[in-house]
Amino acid sequence: MKTLLLNPVKNPDALGQAAALLRAGEVVGMPTETVYGLAANALNPDAVKKIFEAKGRPQDNPLIVHIADVEQLQGLVRTVPETARQLAAAFWPGPLTMILPKADCIPDVVSAGLDTVGIRLPSHPVARALIRECGLPLAAPSANLSGRPSTTTSRHVRLDLGGKIPAIVEGGPCAVGVESTVISLIGQTPRLLRPGGVSLEQLEKILGKVDIDRALREQIGDDVQVSAPGMKYRHYAPDIPVTVVCGDPERTAAYITRHASLMAGIICFSECAFQFDLHERRIIGAAEDVQTQARCIFDALRAFDPVYVDEIWAQCPSDEGLGLAVANRLKKAAGFQIVNVV
Ligand code: AMP
Ligand code: MG
Repeated sequence: MKTLLLNPVKNPDALGQAAALLRAGEVVGMPTETVYGLAANALNPDAVKKIFEAKGRPQDNPLIVHIADVEQLQGLVRTVPETARQLAAAFWPGPLTMILPKADCIPDVVSAGLDTVGIRLPSHPVARALIRECGLPLAAPSANLSGRPSTTTSRHVRLDLGGKIPAIVEGGPCAVGVESTVISLIGQTPRLLRPGGVSLEQLEKILGKVDIDRALREQIGDDVQVSAPGMKYRHYAPDIPVTVVCGDPERTAAYITRHASLMAGIICFSECAFQFDLHERRIIGAAEDVQTQARCIFDALRAFDPVYVDEIWAQCPSDEGLGLAVANRLKKAAGFQIVNVV
C-alpha cells in the first residue's frame, strides 16, 4: 500500500481527502498536540479493527475517542459528572483524557470490552479541523507499532506505519510530546491512570484528592487485573536495553559515567552533556526544563542505532509537574529497570 503524506499547508484539499478516507472506514495518521494518533471512525468496529492490525496492538488495550467540541461528549457517554464538566472547562481543548461510562454506540473493540470509554478534546488545530471535516468521533491510539516509542513527527509515523496505512496528515512536531493524562472519573475518588500533558498538581487544584494507580509506579504482571489495560504492557521500548537513573543530575551523570560501556548510548540533560562527549548521546533539555524533555523524549528513545549502541542509559527527571510523565515513559521504556542514586 502506498502511504500518502497529506499536508494541509501545501494542499488545500488535504483534510478533505483524509476525511473521505475516514468516512470510508480507513485509518489515517493524525497530528495532535501530544503525539501523532492513528485515527479511525470510533463508531465503526471494522474501521477500528484496522488500527489494531496496523499497529499490532493487543485487543485488550482500549482506545481514546477524540472529539472536536464539548457538545460531542453527550452522545458518547451515559452520564457527565460535575467533575468532568469542571475538568473540561479547565483543560479542554488539551492533553487530558477522561474515563466515563460509555454509551451503547461505542463498540466493544474501542473500549476493549470495558463498560467505560476514554474521551479527549485535542487542541491541535489540524486534529480538530479533521474531526469536524469528517463529522465523526475518532478513535486514535498513538501512531506507532505496538510496544515502540510513540510518534511525535510525521517521519516517525512513516517509519513505523508507512506502507501499512493509506495516509498521514502532516501537522509538524508535537508541542507537548508525551501522551495525554488519563483520569478515571468512575467511582468515588478520581484516579490517575496515566501521567501526561496535564500534571497531577494541576488536576489536584480542581479535584482535591486524586488517587494514583499502582501501575504507575511498578511493573504489573500479566496475570493482574488493571484498570487501564494498556499499562501492563512494556511500552515505548527501543530495540536496545534501557537503564534509567534517578536522583540529583550531577550524581546520576557521575553514576552513568562509571557504569556505562563505551558502546552505550546516553540520554542526558544539557548541563551534563559534556561528560558524555565520547558516547552516542541525545540531549533532552536542561534538568529543570521538563517541557523540553517531554518534547524530546520519544525522539531520543528512537534515535539510537543497534549497530552502534548496545545499551542505553538515561538520566531521569524528578516526579514534579510534567516530570512525572517523562519519568513514567522512561521507566516503562526500561521495563522498570531503575537505579536510584542517593
Ligand atoms: P494510547 O492511545 O496508545 O496512548 O493508549 C490509550 C490508553 O488509554 C490505554 O492504553 C489505556 O491505558 C487508557 N484507556 C483508554 N480507554 C480506557 C478505558 N476505558 N479505561 C481505562 N483506561 C483507558
Ligand atoms: Mg500508545
